[in-house]
Amino acid sequence: MRRWSFLSTLRVRLTVSHLIAMLVVTTVYGAIVSTLIVRNASQSLDDRLQNDFRWASTMAQQNPEGRLTWFEGDERPENNPWLSVSNSAGQIVYRTPVAIRSPVPESGWLADNADGSIAIVPNDVAPFRIVSGQANIAGQPVIIQVGRSEFFMREELVEIFFVLAFGLPLSVIVTSLAGFWLARRSLTPLERMTEHAQAITADRLDERLLVDDPRDEIGRLGNAFNALLDRLEESFRKARQFTSDVSHELRTPLTVIRSVGEVGLRGDRATTDYRTLVGSMLEEVNRLTDLVDKLLTLSRSDIGSLKPKVETVELGELADSIVSDIEVLAAEKNQTLSVERVNSALCVADAVVLRQALVNIVDNAIKYSPTNSQIRIRTFTVGGHSLFEVQDPGPGISPDLQQRIFDRFYRYDPNASKNIGVGLGLAIAKSSVEANDGELVCESVAGEGSCFRVQLPRKSSPTKPEGCR
Ligand code: ADP
Repeated sequence: MRRWSFLSTLRVRLTVSHLIAMLVVTTVYGAIVSTLIVRNASQSLDDRLQNDFRWASTMAQQNPEGRLTWFEGDERPENNPWLSVSNSAGQIVYRTPVAIRSPVPESGWLADNADGSIAIVPNDVAPFRIVSGQANIAGQPVIIQVGRSEFFMREELVEIFFVLAFGLPLSVIVTSLAGFWLARRSLTPLERMTEHAQAITADRLDERLLVDDPRDEIGRLGNAFNALLDRLEESFRKARQFTSDVSHELRTPLTVIRSVGEVGLRGDRATTDYRTLVGSMLEEVNRLTDLVDKLLTLSRSDIGSLKPKVETVELGELADSIVSDIEVLAAEKNQTLSVERVNSALCVADAVVLRQALVNIVDNAIKYSPTNSQIRIRTFTVGGHSLFEVQDPGPGISPDLQQRIFDRFYRYDPNASKNIGVGLGLAIAKSSVEANDGELVCESVAGEGSCFRVQLPRKSSPTKPEGCR
């Protein structure tokens, strides 16, 4: 089975297709060329016969006795064609030696119908063509018959057919072999790439295929494959990083719970001490639960099971409801949370999922902004989008970090205040907004505050949104 597997290779398939195409083309070409050659050869033989006839009419001589003769004393064979002349009574008045040597039995009745047409009669070696026509020479009406054998024409045709019959198949074979060689040569880099790609495993994702010429099709395929490897490597890196971050984050509260439990078991304590210990254990359990909830949300959105329940949401109303729930946190820092409902901002979204995203953003604004500051929320519609903007006077985010902040477990404390989360808030916000066909972007200038903008499809119509004010 394996021995014949090469038959299904691309190079064999290309060569066979090429061979079939060449066979069809050369057969059609051969047939057309042969037909044209036969027609032209036959036509030129007829033309020569007509010329012979005209020529024979002008070459007549009359001897002193009044008899018509041709080529008297001329021994040259080219001047002695097959020529027979008869009078109106049907008697032969002249015949060249060739005509005497090779009489054509049909010439008699052909002379009776001498209308200048050409007749083909069978002969020993090859068919014979005779033109029979009337002429008036020296006042005498005569019938002139000139003939030529098809022998030489056929001989020439056989030579041409021989060349075609051997030359065309030979050229097909030669070009097919050349095609096979060319296909093999062109596909060698592909085979090399296949072998190399087969050797790339999850542990060797940093390897890349060698691309000979990035401009040709194989080079482009190689580049596309390498780009795919880049993305795969990045995904694997993120997945590994995620697993290690998750393990780390889960370990910390678990370690705290265990040590608090161990401390509680050491010796007898007063009830209030136990209460304190259980309280701090529950605090860690809360953190743990919060973390597990966040991880569950992210993994659901990863596997696509975060199916939004579609309903009409007015972002201004949602902003008011979020502020009333969360302003207690702002109050702790003496911050003001204001909502400006510029115009009605209707969108179609899952209110619960969207709310979770917006709460994370507003919560960050409170967390990272200084005390006594003002955080402004604006909701409005521009063109086909409904927007929810959170503008804070916090420390801002430098341009190189503006994309990284959406990565899972990426966190950085700009205020060095130890008031930092696990780094999942924005990752969840982003995937929740995207699950609602929206977009979350951050515009920020380090030292001047940040603006987080959620842009969702409006319930109807188009155009671009304005930037943050
Ligand atoms: P965290 O739980 O640390 O807040 P997030 O995913 O919500 O995690 O945010 C990731 C990081 O983005 C934060 O650690 C912080 O450095 C930065 N960040 C988020 N929101 C703001 C903001 N409003 N101003 C400044 N930095 C922010």
